[in-house]
Amino acid sequence: MSFLENKPSYQREEWINASDFKVVRVDELQQRVVDRAKNTPLPVAIFDLDSTLYQVEDRNLAILKAWAHQNHSSPWSKAVKDLKTHHVGYSIEDTLKSIGVPSSEKSLYLEIKDFWRERFFTNEWLSHDQPYPCASSFVSELHKVGIALLYLTGRDEPGMGEQTRKSLQRDGFPFEGDSVFYGLKPKKELDDLEHKKIFLEQFGRTMNVIVSFENEPRNVALIQHYFPEAVHVFLKTKMSQRPAPVVKDVYLLENFE
Ligand SMILES: [Mg+2]
Repeated sequence: MSFLENKPSYQREEWINASDFKVVRVDELQQRVVDRAKNTPLPVAIFDLDSTLYQVEDRNLAILKAWAHQNHSSPWSKAVKDLKTHHVGYSIEDTLKSIGVPSSEKSLYLEIKDFWRERFFTNEWLSHDQPYPCASSFVSELHKVGIALLYLTGRDEPGMGEQTRKSLQRDGFPFEGDSVFYGLKPKKELDDLEHKKIFLEQFGRTMNVIVSFENEPRNVALIQHYFPEAVHVFLKTKMSQRPAPVVKDVYLLENFE
């Protein structure tokens, strides 16, 4: 992928350290975005969903506990049943490591991963997600001043579209109307980064994107590549191990409170 080529890439903490973020308070950031919107016709804000506006820990926990209930005889069943929110990492591997499952337990990792994969990307389990505190009021404030919203997410429309809209409505986010756009994957198998790239190529070029919010390093770099003049915000919540090119002039936000 062209924007990834020939650039030094880093993982997780190394990426954060190399990227030299600007730390900002949420009220300052909001004011900056609102000021930009005043000078832009039809301004658009891009929001990722998982681990940006929504915490996915409860969805992960519910699935893992369902596995434990169906697998009483596993020596790890009790430990998985006792999992707490703070144990939940970006991946199943991160989460199981946090409760001491050794990496030599390969078949257990595969079994739980398969069980998780069949459920995690479905409307049924998506309803467990809760928004981060103050996320919906932050998004609503931007929408109220005339900023259109694009929810650009790795969730797929066939498996997750219905509950995505229901949850946004349930949790007080703007979720319908002419100034709310959805960028869900047309099919689950499409890679998240590839999906966002294709979507931005097809539709993003026509949008006056003024700000973006993302938790995944490669996606931050991708969106900044397409909209170098916009404000970009990295949410320091959960992130994958996929290496990403260093970014500059990006804001770091811990939460929306
Ligand atoms: Mg995300």
